[in-house]
Amino acid sequence: MELESILLPGISNQKPLLIAGPCSAESEEQVMNTAKELVNKNIRIFRAGIWKPRTKPGGFEGVGTIGLPWLEKVKRETGMYIATEVATRNHVLEAVHSGIDLLWIGARTSANPFAVQELADALAEVGFTGPVLVKNPVNPDLELWIGTIERLHNAGIRKIGAIHRGFSSYDKKLYRNLPQWHIPIELKRRIPNLPIIVDPSHIGGKRELIAPLSQQAMDMNYEGLMIESHCSPDNALSDKEQQVTPDVLSYIVNLLVIRDTKQSTENLAELRQQIDMIDDDLMSILAKRMRVSREIGLYKKEHNMPVLQTIRYDEILEKRIAQAKELDISLSFMKMVLEAIHEESIRQQINILNQ
Ligand code: PEP
Ligand code: MN
Repeated sequence: MELESILLPGISNQKPLLIAGPCSAESEEQVMNTAKELVNKNIRIFRAGIWKPRTKPGGFEGVGTIGLPWLEKVKRETGMYIATEVATRNHVLEAVHSGIDLLWIGARTSANPFAVQELADALAEVGFTGPVLVKNPVNPDLELWIGTIERLHNAGIRKIGAIHRGFSSYDKKLYRNLPQWHIPIELKRRIPNLPIIVDPSHIGGKRELIAPLSQQAMDMNYEGLMIESHCSPDNALSDKEQQVTPDVLSYIVNLLVIRDTKQSTENLAELRQQIDMIDDDLMSILAKRMRVSREIGLYKKEHNMPVLQTIRYDEILEKRIAQAKELDISLSFMKMVLEAIHEESIRQQINILNQ
């Protein structure tokens, strides 16, 4: 995909590209206080939600248009670039009119092709030349994420980046939105020149998860971080559990270990060769296992036996999980692999049964 750099003039290309600011613009005072503290910590791109897509009505839905002059003031008085979320054509017109430098499309919007098309058309109509960042859709659907990026690209937008903010799930556990890292990894494989920015605030949903998630993002070599920061997080009108003060934000950023990607890869090459050979073995062993499983399928068919025999599967699982413990492999990982293999075996045996 033909893309241009999302770096705004004067922004260093050293990782990570940082975007920080409150979840929502709440008042001129809150916006200005936060921005001044952030610029003192060398943050150059200020984010703030003006229009807030909330799950239920009745909550704080953003201050709306009256907040735009506050962002303009941030730009004027601190020299920071300003960024906000747009979800409708009107938002685009108003944001661009106020000199917004960078726009992002939120997770609820990027899941909706009608809304995305409207935004893409509006951006083309006003000739927006700044970067547009696309948050992943709330549901773990890579094609939908790529679809949103393609709609922007088709509208002539070239400064496109992606924001990984995690995926919602029914049962909330450690994370507010599951990271499902394999999805952004696959996105990078599909569009290698697309910069990816990680939003640890919305993935974690808690202050204490921002540092480890940010480090993980850097270890995976992603380009940047978007972090929610508020001058008084406990009083925030939205997402207060996940916002940190500019002081804490700066502390977190300074502790990040940025690994040097320019290091020689000679030693790595040898290890990678080993991995390739092991993967070859894994492939042929899996193929062999499937062959045997199909033979069992034939036998079951001839003897009119059911495909699924739960006791046998339970035995296999129990035995292998005990083994995983000894071999120091993660139990949950081993269980996932075994379940995937078992599922595929069953699928193949059912095919045989129906032949
Ligand atoms: C936000 O960035 O404040 C926001 C609403 O995020 P998301 O679209 O990822 O939920
Ligand atoms: Mn938020």
